[in-house]
Amino acid sequence: MFETDTDGIHQEAATGALPGWERVEQLVQAAHDRYRDTDDGTVADYIPALAEADPDWFGICVADTAGGLHDVGDAAVPFSIQSISKAFVYALVCEEFGHERIGELVGVDNTGLPFNSVIALELNGGHPMNPMVNAGAIASTALMAGDTAAEKWRAVHDGLSRFAGRELAVDERVYTSESETNSRNQAIARLLQSYGRLDADPGEIVDVYTRQCSLLVTAHDLAVMGATLADGGVNPVTGDRVVSADVSRDTLAVLAANGLYERSGEWLFQIGLPAKSGVSGGIVAIAPGKGAIGTFSPPLDAAGNSVRGERATAYLSLTLGLNLFASPEPGPSGPGSTSRTSTPLDARSTP
Ligand code: GLN
Repeated sequence: MFETDTDGIHQEAATGALPGWERVEQLVQAAHDRYRDTDDGTVADYIPALAEADPDWFGICVADTAGGLHDVGDAAVPFSIQSISKAFVYALVCEEFGHERIGELVGVDNTGLPFNSVIALELNGGHPMNPMVNAGAIASTALMAGDTAAEKWRAVHDGLSRFAGRELAVDERVYTSESETNSRNQAIARLLQSYGRLDADPGEIVDVYTRQCSLLVTAHDLAVMGATLADGGVNPVTGDRVVSADVSRDTLAVLAANGLYERSGEWLFQIGLPAKSGVSGGIVAIAPGKGAIGTFSPPLDAAGNSVRGERATAYLSLTLGLNLFASPEPGPSGPGSTSRTSTPLDARSTP
């Protein structure tokens, strides 16, 4: 299980709205204060440039669907987006082809295996199973609009920038470092091709995917990108419609099932929100209709998820009342009371 360190914190019911502005400010600050000195986890180093990250970096931003933003700590420190890009590329390809086609081509189910698993592909006849692991993400990038790799890259760059509401830059150091060490992703792309599931040059597609993972974002950007999905596909800061409401819904469903790698079930069980994490230390968690939480802190747990990010998100999910499964407790006007307005099914008279 995730070590969320939230024992004793009351779960607020998931109501239709976030608490008032001041309360959100207070809770975002409290989450930062509470976990700032946590020193569990290890900074990723399998992409050499990622090992240069400062383990003390810790930023949180909550964005609401009205465009309100609450930044605390290192919310403006840029880092490469890594796997979090998969969520937004998935939304963009669904927008292009519709969810049924992408469901067939890429799948929506958890593989139960690590994000860079080759065995998962072999066990499923080359079907990636889900777009949040590398195989499904590389297959999704290959489906982006454009006939050439350069056009596909432009579509990825433009689409992710629209989610963020500003033009994102590439971290050239991270891009070069990952390009020199990504033989496993090259192998995954070749394997997809061998199964007839990659309709493009594997080397070129992995290059676009590597660039996509090297796009620089901040915790603030992640919150805005997530709030765009929470807002039915409209960026709440710029007002730009990036994807449709249906695509946002489908993307959130896929994130709920697959966003935290093979620990997605545990995450949903404990935190109750669709989310996506990445190895550079970012996590975005989305509360449909309300907003999103972007966190950034490089030290990761064994599954590759940011430790401070998990804990801060768990804390905010409880205190802001975001857990999708938390119904209000029975109260004076709640279930079981005599003042209920709806009639229980067994008391309804048949016409
Ligand atoms: N670019 C990274 C990779 O393909 C992304 C992995 C991640 O964030 N989990 O290995």
